[in-house]
Amino acid sequence: MPISRESILRCMDPEQFRKHGKEMVDFVANYWASLKDRNSGMTPLPDIRPGDVSKLVPSSPPKNPEDWKTIFEDLDKVVVNGATHWHHPRFFAYFPTACSYQAIMADILSGGIAGIGFTWKSCPSMTELEMSTLDWLVDLLGLPEHFKNAAEGPGCGIIQSTASDSTMIAIMAARAAAVEKVKQEPTFLNWMAATDLGKTIKGILGKVRQNTTEDEASGLPPPYYHDPTVFEKFVMYCSDQAHSSVEKDAMLCGVRMRKLKSSRDAELGNFSVSKETLEAAIKEDRARGYVPFLLVATVGTTCSCAVDHLDELGPICQQEGLWLHVDAAYAGSFFVCPEFGYMKRGMEYVDSFNYNAHKGMFINFDCSPLWFRDGAHASKFFNVDAVYLSHEHQATAYDYRHLQVALGRRFRSLKIWFVLRNMGIEKIREALRKQNELARLFSRLIVENGQFELFVPPHLGLVCFKIKNANNAQNEVLCNTLNEDRRIHLVPSNVHGTYFLRLAVCSQFTKEEDIIFARDVIYEINSKIRSQV
Ligand SMILES: *Cc1c(COP(=O)(O)O)cnc(C)c1O
Repeated sequence: MPISRESILRCMDPEQFRKHGKEMVDFVANYWASLKDRNSGMTPLPDIRPGDVSKLVPSSPPKNPEDWKTIFEDLDKVVVNGATHWHHPRFFAYFPTACSYQAIMADILSGGIAGIGFTWKSCPSMTELEMSTLDWLVDLLGLPEHFKNAAEGPGCGIIQSTASDSTMIAIMAARAAAVEKVKQEPTFLNWMAATDLGKTIKGILGKVRQNTTEDEASGLPPPYYHDPTVFEKFVMYCSDQAHSSVEKDAMLCGVRMRKLKSSRDAELGNFSVSKETLEAAIKEDRARGYVPFLLVATVGTTCSCAVDHLDELGPICQQEGLWLHVDAAYAGSFFVCPEFGYMKRGMEYVDSFNYNAHKGMFINFDCSPLWFRDGAHASKFFNVDAVYLSHEHQATAYDYRHLQVALGRRFRSLKIWFVLRNMGIEKIREALRKQNELARLFSRLIVENGQFELFVPPHLGLVCFKIKNANNAQNEVLCNTLNEDRRIHLVPSNVHGTYFLRLAVCSQFTKEEDIIFARDVIYEINSKIRSQV
C-alpha cells in the first residue's frame, strides 16, 4: 500500500523535533518550578486510586497517528497528575533519588546517540568515558587505587543499573570463584576432607579432571564455573538488616543464604553485624558441612542506616576465604565528605563495592557503579564467545558485556561526566551535608513535645522515630493516616519486631521550613488520632 502524503507529514521532522524538543525541556523546567513552589497545591503523593490512570488511556492503540500537540496535552493529565513526586520538598519516603539539569541533558544525549556499548568496538566513547569517570569516582570517594580501570592491576569499575543488579553480579562472581577454587585446588578441600561434602565434591573433582563424566558423555555438561553440583552446599551471609534485594538475588542465584542477627552498634547506635556473629556462623556452618563463600556487608542499611564495620568483618572474610561484597547503595555517596570517612575503614579487604550514584550525587536513575578488586578474574565467569561480538581489539580493550547480565548498555557515564564537570564536587558535598543537617534538625524537633522518641540516632539524612510508650499498631495507624493525608510522605520500617517511622531527607528542594512543616503535620495528625480514642 502506498504511504499517504498526509501520514508522512504527520511524522516528526528535524525542524519539528527542534521545536517540540524545546517544548519538552520547558515542560520539565516548569515541572521543577512547580515542585519548588510551596503554594502550587502539589503534594508528594497524587490523589489517585489504582486504575485511575488506566481509565485515561484508551484500551487499544490509535488507528492513525495523532498530532504531537494532542499527545503533549495529555502529559499533565495522565503523567504528572498520576505521579508520585520524588523531588517534592516534602517527600520523605524510602531513600532519595537524585537528579539535576545536567543529568537530564546527559540522558537526552544518550537517547540521541542511541547506541549500545556492549563492547569497546560497539561504542568506544561509551566504554572509555565510563572507564575514566569511574576512576574519577574512585578518587572522589577515596576508594582504594586498585579498583581503578587505569591501575596496573586487574581492578575494574563498571556502571550497573541498580544495586540489586550489582549484588547479583557479585554473588555470581563470588560463587564462580569459589566453584573454580574447589575444582582447581584440591588442597582447598583438605579442611573438609572428612565430611561427606568433601567426598562428594572430590568425586566431582575427579570426574572433572578425567574429563569423562557422565554429563560430558551425555553432551550436557554443567557450566564449568556455575556448576550447581559444586555450589549446592555453598552458603552466603548478610545482615538481617540487608536490603530485600540481597535476599532476592541469593534466591535467584540458587544459593543458600543466612541472615546474621544484627545488634546495637557501639559507635552509631543502630543495627549492624558484629564480627563475633559472623565468626560463629562460619564455624557452625562448616561443622554442618556447608561451604561459606561470601559476605554481603551493608554500609548504610535501609532500616536504620547502620554500617557493617568492614575493618572488623574484612579480616575474618580474608582468613576464612570469603568474598567480601559491600552494598553501600545509599551511604556510598557520603564517602565524598571527609567527615563521613569512618564508613570506609577496612575498604582494603573488599572484593567488590557498589553504590548508587543516583541516590545522592545529582545523577538521575540509573547509575550504580560497581568495582571489582579483580575484574579480569570476575569477567571470566561471564564470558561467552560469539563470533558476531568479537573484534580486533578485544585482547586489549574493555568489553563491558563480560560483567553484566544484559548484552546491551546505555551511555550512563555522560551523567557522571556532566555533573562532576559542571556542578563540581563541592556542590555535591554541600548538598549531602545539608541533607544530614536537616535530618538532625528533624530529630531535635520531633522529640520536642515529649510524645515521640528516636528509635536510633539519626544518621546520614535518615531519622527513625516512634510514638513514645505506644505499641506497633498505634505507630502504624499514625503512619497510615499521615500518608492518607498526603501533605508529607514517609514510610515505616521494622527492626527486630519494633515498628517505627522513617523520615529520609530526599529532595534537594527540602528546606528548614519543610522540616518544621513535617513536624507540625505529624504532631497535628497524632493529636487528632489521640483525641479520637
Ligand atoms: C536503595 C538500596 C538498594 C536497592 O537499590 P536498587 O538500585 O533499586 O536495586 C539496595 N540496598 C540498599 C542499602 C539501598 O539503599
